[in-house]
Amino acid sequence: MEKPTLDHIGIAVRSIAATKIYEALGLRVDHVETVESQGVRTAFLSVGDSNLELLEPLSDDSPIGRFMAKRGEGLHHICLRVTHLDEHLARLKKRGFRLINEAPVPGAHGCRVAFLHPSAGNGVLIELSEKE
Ligand code: ZN
Repeated sequence: MEKPTLDHIGIAVRSIAATKIYEALGLRVDHVETVESQGVRTAFLSVGDSNLELLEPLSDDSPIGRFMAKRGEGLHHICLRVTHLDEHLARLKKRGFRLINEAPVPGAHGCRVAFLHPSAGNGVLIELSEKE
């Protein structure tokens, strides 16, 4: 099994127009996608081998909408790219780590993703992502 790599850092924003600060720094929006299953509109900007993912909630009762109601805009999660996502989830569960998604769900870019509970990541929401 390959070592995980940093795929992206997720940032909750009111509007993906928030990309303008990163564009002012010379980064470019590579990809904009609405992920209906997560109730979110995303914009990706590549930074070296990793990306920033800006997350705009489609509604107040979506996961990002609820996050922003509590904490406002800001850092939301980190995403590690893995191979063998199902094996990782099974192993983490067996070792007692709390998972939000016990089975992978569809994410942006046609990836399969799963979120671990922030209590498993010392307050950091960790997303695992596997390319199809
Ligand atoms: Zn993400």
